[in-house]
Amino acid sequence: MRYLSTRGSAPALSFEDTVLAGLAPDGGLYVPETVPAFSMPEIAAMQAMSYPELAFTVISRFAGNIPPETLEAIIGESYGTHLRSSASQAGLFRHAAVAPLAQLDAHTFLLELFHGPTLAFKDFALQFLGRLLGYMLEKRGEKAVIVGATSGDTGSAAIEGCRGREGMEIVILHPYGRVSDVQRRQMTTVTDGNVHNIAIEGTFDDCQDIVKALFADAAFRDRHHLAAVNSINWARIVAQIPYYFYAALQLGAPAKAVSFSVPTGNFGDIYAGYMAKKMGLPVSQLIIAANRNDILARCLESGVYGMDKVTPTLSPSMDIQVSSNFERLLFDLHDRNGKTIDDRMARFRKEKQFTLSPSAWSRFKAEFSAGSVNDEDTKKTIADTYAASGVLLDPHSAVGLTAGQRCRRDTSAPLVALATAHPAKFPDAVMAATGVTPALPVHLQDLLRKKERFDTLKNDTVAVKKYIERSL
Ligand SMILES: *Cc1c(COP(=O)(O)O)cnc(C)c1O
Repeated sequence: MRYLSTRGSAPALSFEDTVLAGLAPDGGLYVPETVPAFSMPEIAAMQAMSYPELAFTVISRFAGNIPPETLEAIIGESYGTHLRSSASQAGLFRHAAVAPLAQLDAHTFLLELFHGPTLAFKDFALQFLGRLLGYMLEKRGEKAVIVGATSGDTGSAAIEGCRGREGMEIVILHPYGRVSDVQRRQMTTVTDGNVHNIAIEGTFDDCQDIVKALFADAAFRDRHHLAAVNSINWARIVAQIPYYFYAALQLGAPAKAVSFSVPTGNFGDIYAGYMAKKMGLPVSQLIIAANRNDILARCLESGVYGMDKVTPTLSPSMDIQVSSNFERLLFDLHDRNGKTIDDRMARFRKEKQFTLSPSAWSRFKAEFSAGSVNDEDTKKTIADTYAASGVLLDPHSAVGLTAGQRCRRDTSAPLVALATAHPAKFPDAVMAATGVTPALPVHLQDLLRKKERFDTLKNDTVAVKKYIERSL
């Protein structure tokens, strides 16, 4: 399988080169030339599979020349489970099902994606990507500097996936003062020598722009062997597809279609759901759940993709106005025409907005629904859910559930709201809504006492370049 750039002028790459490249040299994102599809009997046969078996079945369709036994080992390690709470087994998932479903009412379910080592769904992608990169670098005898920007959860998940691995340094940029204490400490208390945390005086979008600028400087990128773990990395998308299958299969797929509501920031997670659908999974609705930073919901409503100011909310991992992975969908919506996307994105950079063509807009509306949820309603959902079922939701998961309930059309189709973070990652919001402080799992209980280590830099690409030059 080969991968193409959404902007049409970069050469096609293999899976491994796509994973190492991150962003394409023409500024585009890589997408598979053709999407592999499963037949209904093939999907039905997944019903008997464990999570790692299912993940292997899905991911192997994308993974090019990686030997099956190697891929199986990487996936087996990535989604290993450890059910007792000792701190020594920190790298594993803490639920036997890996991605369990919890039932809220007759037709509403939560897909709990927060049982991984850093308590957010990003562990699904980054446990896999860290090991995959380790394997590829070792095979090639190369070293790499992993650079990423985080709005809170990517950073710790990436660090957890890469810490202590041979041949890798990892540099993570987070927006100073805009991630929760738990999120920051999950990054800054890691002691492995290959881990470097930078707090940028700016927003997440600023951090992301700096990372993009580092990759856009080809000489710098090649000199330091930069590799990306941001949600634009194709391996991350691929590793998020299996749980859509896993959840739907438990609710009657492929005979029955399921709806998904996905708390969305960079459009990575929900794009994986769209891929699952393209691979043949019957999906009733794909609901984009946004907080006040609602660029995607506005775009669906108006046909204009236009940037606004970032507003801090109770769900900081979605405080994003430029949804990087949306470009992958735009590519499909515009007949996979790279020239058109290149033109639209250039306009977006210059004018901060562009208008979808009528056909692209109507396709967007046919594939997705969208809702934007304010902080007040987020808190209300946390409180109501706790009162009705005793389940504590984190604010991101609450945005997902609220938008799902608002946007679902067929109330008899099971609705799966993706629970993307553990409530203990955002204890203040949960406490304010319910009066209950969610406890951190035992393996993280010393987090608030550990010593932190990070550097603070101005919102300036040159400063970050100098830092990398000086310290690595
Ligand atoms: C990153 C994140 C999201 C948004 O995911 P995208 O793939 O960026 O859309 C939602 N919830 C939580 C808890 C996150 O960490």
